[in-house]
Amino acid sequence: MEDVTSLSSQFPADAMMNETPLRTQYLSIKKQYPDSIVLFRLGDFYETFDKDAELTSRLLEITLTSREMGKGNRVPMAGIPYHALDAYLGRLIHGGTSVAICEQTQQSGPDQGLLDRSVVRVITPGTVLESGILDGKINNYLVALTPGTSEIGLAYCDISTSEFATTQIPLSLLSFELERLNPAEILAPETLKYPLARPVSSPANCFLNETDSRKLLLEHFQVENFTAYGCETLPLAITAAATIIRYLQFTQGIDSTQLGSMHTYSLSKFMSLDSHTRRNLELFNGGPSGGPSLLSILDKTKTPMGARLFRQWLGQPLIEMEPLKTRQDAISWFHQNPTIRDQTAVLLAKIADIERIFKRIQLSIASPRELQVFRQSLEAMERLKQIIPRGSNPIGRLIQSGKTCKAITDLIFSTLQDNPSQNPGDGYTIKPGLSKALDEAKFVSSNARELIAKIEVAERENTGINSLKIGYNRIFGYYLEITRPHLDKIPDIYIRRQTLANAERFVTTELKEYENTILTAAERTETLEKELFADLCRQVAEFQETIYSTSKILSQIDCFFGMAETAIQYQLVRPTLTETQEISIVGGRHPIVEFSLPPGSFVPNDLTIGNNECSLMLLTGPNMAGKSTYIRQAAIITLMAQIGSFVPAASASIGLVDRIFTRVGLHDDLTAGQSTFMVEMMETAEILHHATKRSLVILDEIGRGTSTYDGLAIAWTIVRYLHNENILGCKTLFATHYHELTHLEKELERVKNYTVAVKEDSEDVIFLRQIIKGRSGRSYGIHVARLAGMPKSIIRDAIETLKSLEDNGVNDANFKLSRRTRTNLNRIASKENQMLLFSPLSDEILKELKSLDTSRMTPIDALIQLEKLHQKASE
Ligand code: ADP
Repeated sequence: MEDVTSLSSQFPADAMMNETPLRTQYLSIKKQYPDSIVLFRLGDFYETFDKDAELTSRLLEITLTSREMGKGNRVPMAGIPYHALDAYLGRLIHGGTSVAICEQTQQSGPDQGLLDRSVVRVITPGTVLESGILDGKINNYLVALTPGTSEIGLAYCDISTSEFATTQIPLSLLSFELERLNPAEILAPETLKYPLARPVSSPANCFLNETDSRKLLLEHFQVENFTAYGCETLPLAITAAATIIRYLQFTQGIDSTQLGSMHTYSLSKFMSLDSHTRRNLELFNGGPSGGPSLLSILDKTKTPMGARLFRQWLGQPLIEMEPLKTRQDAISWFHQNPTIRDQTAVLLAKIADIERIFKRIQLSIASPRELQVFRQSLEAMERLKQIIPRGSNPIGRLIQSGKTCKAITDLIFSTLQDNPSQNPGDGYTIKPGLSKALDEAKFVSSNARELIAKIEVAERENTGINSLKIGYNRIFGYYLEITRPHLDKIPDIYIRRQTLANAERFVTTELKEYENTILTAAERTETLEKELFADLCRQVAEFQETIYSTSKILSQIDCFFGMAETAIQYQLVRPTLTETQEISIVGGRHPIVEFSLPPGSFVPNDLTIGNNECSLMLLTGPNMAGKSTYIRQAAIITLMAQIGSFVPAASASIGLVDRIFTRVGLHDDLTAGQSTFMVEMMETAEILHHATKRSLVILDEIGRGTSTYDGLAIAWTIVRYLHNENILGCKTLFATHYHELTHLEKELERVKNYTVAVKEDSEDVIFLRQIIKGRSGRSYGIHVARLAGMPKSIIRDAIETLKSLEDNGVNDANFKLSRRTRTNLNRIASKENQMLLFSPLSDEILKELKSLDTSRMTPIDALIQLEKLHQKASE
């Protein structure tokens, strides 16, 4: 009998405390987990009480009830069925809360008093293991930070995959690293002053001083020092790693071996990508219109492990030649072996998330079906080993370096039924022949069931009642049911148990005996099967090393396979990697833009930069001509080359870069004023501080967030700075509206002007999307206005005005506009809630504009006049 219902009668509320023992038990547990929602197991439900209940009912949109837990002591309560925990957990965790799971740790039985209960796990956003909550393609990281004076210790782990790493980095790189890891949860002491754009928790007891941290970690790994882990001389890295262990001990109660080994990493081997660059290149999230991201286009992996690793690779390009060449060789091999590639695709598709299932096996929360899937995945891996030729090919070498999984698959195969049930205990989990006791229990219960069926036949004959039947319900167990007209025929040995409208139910001693045998046998079956399954899990969990190395190898193979698939599908080529400064691309394409256009319509372009001829490319040209696409494509191709991938080009030679920076001016925020401009300048300043000669810098319309005059001056100066080899001299692609900048080509040796080819056809203009040497002559604003759907009369007048301006200069320009155009313009202006274009003020501006002698003006004079007019117009 479940203790909840029996409690109030068995333990009358203490008059003084007004609390039932259950309430007392709950409160003492809750006291230990004040910051978590405590899910308190009561029979088939997890209940929450008090403030937790209010929060839970709000987050899960479930009814808030109340329950008397002591005389006159009604407390708020909200509960969820235990089997629906996974479904609800996600909503609680994503609501930002942590959840303490409090289980009954004692079997319930008849006349049982208060059951023992304790918290078995605390689930926080960074310690989720439930597959229903986790995204298979993304790691779920818990990060711990230990700030020092100029450096910071950063440790992270994904307990669902057992990855555990630590590092010590300059404070200035922290934001990049957090950006890359995108942690679900961050632990940092309250003393951390560094601003983080995400919530941080500071759980008490998790932060130790350096000495205690060291001691804890040494004990954890059972070592004398950390030389083998590579962090002996990195005290902040050690302390951060210890914080992770402390937190996991507190939340998971895990035994330390389950985290897997720790590795110390150094950012100097990777290219740091800042958030602007990730965003501008749309690495992980598509553009504002919700288009595809680079990841979604390039990722052709088949397994969750592969997908997670590929995501890591894309976010962490390499800067050293050797590991890149190894990756390229592996991709080439799949590229050149189509038959094996196809077979690999079939096998990889059969492989489930063995990393995460293994973790659940270790924690004894995996289901028999998960174990079955686990076995099938490992079998697929073994078959993969057979189809890939041994010997000197890179994939063969990789796969042969792993351990065999045969012992694990054999173990599961010989123990687990072929189609096991979801939960162990009903007799369909463990194979017959493995445990005599289990087989007997199953035999007895099924035999007894058969005997009961025979009793039904026999009793029908005995009594002559053909409608007699044997039924079962949970309250009365097995019973004989006799309909009312036959009640006079029942024998004396029948004992009445229940009266229904049309029938009565009876039991016999014999029936009860069989029932008892069945129930005992079923209980035995359940206990034995659960034990045997737990045993199986324990044995499989022993193979930690094998599984770690297998999944590591597998995830790499999946990445290489996926990258080869992508290369074939999108016609990518293997780039030549060099240690020079030069990037040279023939027929380069932007993979995302190309993907979103009809096949064959993307125009490829060449690029050569970083040599004596050109280190800074100034790209001018009309709006919508393809400037941004071109400069971003250079960055994307370089980045792809530096994750080892093939690239979208006819051919490419990439001098490895140490960083890629991209900054995009805030086009549309001219009115937003100083603060926007400030942001833009801060971002640009960051580049100037961090870029080196080996960096690639992409600037798109920088300087537009302020007045023309200021903007031009700043852009001008930035170009000089980036170009100057003594100061920086990095590779720069600068798309700009400031045509004036093109004068710099004459002055600065390695600045080259480029533009986008335009074909003019009477009134029509066609953007050819081809990047050519030279500067753009016109802005084609009228053409863009036409594309934007401006009224035809306005376009006509604008063309005439422009012609007149071009022919005669501003002084003699004919500003006569048709009446229709005036009406149109006024309508547009008032719609936009701007000043009416033809108000007295605008007439005054026009007059002033007309009076300017543009033929004698210097460019600077022109800018000053323009600024004046602009200010007047803005008044
Ligand atoms: P800009 O930066 O000059 O304003 P974009 O680079 O944003 O222009 O390009 C505008 C549009 O032109 C893109 O959205 C794309 O549809 C198209 N486009 C750009 N480059 C190419 C190209 N090389 N081939 C085909 N279409 C292109």
